[in-house]
Amino acid sequence: MSKNQNKTGSYSFFNCIEKNFDKAARFISIEKGLLEQIKACNSVYRMHFPVKIGKEIKVVEAYRVQHSHHKLPCKGGIRYSMKVNQDEIMTLAALMTYKCAIVDVPFGGAKGGIKIDPQTISSENIEKITRRYTSELIKKNFIGPGIDVPAPDYGTGEREMSWIFDTFLSLRSGDVDALACVTGKPVSQGGVRGRKEATGLGVFYGVRELCHVKEDMDSVGLDVGLVGKRIIIQGLGNVGYHAASFFHESGAIIIALAEREGAIYNEKGLNVSKVFLHLKNNGSILNFPEAKNIEKTEKALELECDILIPAALENVIHKNNANRIKAKIIGEAANGPITPEADEILDKKGVIIVPDIYLNAGGVTVSYFEWLKNLSHVRYGRMEKKFRENVNAEFLQVIETVCKKKISIEEKKMILRGPREIDLVRSGLEDTMINGFHKICDLKKSLKIENMRTAAFVLSINKIIDSYEKLGIFP
Ligand code: GLU
Repeated sequence: MSKNQNKTGSYSFFNCIEKNFDKAARFISIEKGLLEQIKACNSVYRMHFPVKIGKEIKVVEAYRVQHSHHKLPCKGGIRYSMKVNQDEIMTLAALMTYKCAIVDVPFGGAKGGIKIDPQTISSENIEKITRRYTSELIKKNFIGPGIDVPAPDYGTGEREMSWIFDTFLSLRSGDVDALACVTGKPVSQGGVRGRKEATGLGVFYGVRELCHVKEDMDSVGLDVGLVGKRIIIQGLGNVGYHAASFFHESGAIIIALAEREGAIYNEKGLNVSKVFLHLKNNGSILNFPEAKNIEKTEKALELECDILIPAALENVIHKNNANRIKAKIIGEAANGPITPEADEILDKKGVIIVPDIYLNAGGVTVSYFEWLKNLSHVRYGRMEKKFRENVNAEFLQVIETVCKKKISIEEKKMILRGPREIDLVRSGLEDTMINGFHKICDLKKSLKIENMRTAAFVLSINKIIDSYEKLGIFP
């Protein structure tokens, strides 16, 4: 057993990312020390703090890891889960660094985690824990608009981000940029329209782009385009839910959805909004009238399909089930859903894997837009919407006069429309995902790199190297 392997024979999560990094390093000629620096986690803050729950004092374990300071602030979500541990948070922070570099988001990677099960704790107590965690971060200068900016992740959402902002503001009263200390806030609290669905929409844009490349589709024996593709989505949290909705709306067929309690299957396709309504009313996706139940949720990953989207937690595809995976394309909506051993097995089978460090970067991309909005103190589109509409109207009038033809009211409505915040956010996200995809593919081709993951790492590491080279090393 190598020193990197634990008793079960599997690698630690951080070692998995190091393996991917090392594969990419073969394509980069640079001083070894610089690569070591890029790989290492710069700061790890592990804390324990007491919280009074009822009459008892509970000790809570929590983390904030800043993987890289080559760009500031650091950026990354905070997760609430009983599985939180130092190795996991370090790895997720590292993934954030690579992710941000790929999509040209000028942040270093970070991640936070609190070891609690939010499903078994009252919202009052979650609030207490969140506020206490935030004050611990403030004490150690681990949060701030130019320092480190958290966001939602597994088990957290807008509600928690609001509490973080409120706690920050009350301890840093008068800071005019305080709103930019956290992203993923509700729109009424300085959030940006389109953040909630951003990761799922980014996943959709990335997979759609792949499905338009004839060469890739030929290699897995599929037609070009998303329409009619059979998709399985594992995990119906914020990311899986929105990804499923966008795929469904685009004409793809969602044949199975998997959650903790089990999965549901219908080869003719599931009506995603109906499934969500069923989930809301019953607290479970099981027993959906138009589908078959699959009791063992992990079995859903092994069903025949064109595209598999793991959108929950890490390491769900491993050496023991990789051989049974029948998907032709895997889109990593979750962070690290495939272990390195499974990656090699799937690569040999010819499966196309769209890697997490590119595919789920939509969330942090729109977080970047939110941060910029908070620092500029104005809603996107507020200054130019009406101006654009007026210019468009004048333009239309000239066209009507020159062409001696009237344009219909419906057509006019479409053309006259000035950009709203949601339009700008979505088009910015779409552009980012399309560009990222083609940069990875171009590099893969030009350096003859074996797969998209390694190409994505090469792209990302090269950008970080460039930053270090231009910055120099202090002192
Ligand atoms: N938690 C998300 C991720 O893993 C979003 C991070 C962010 O917006 O800062 O990418």
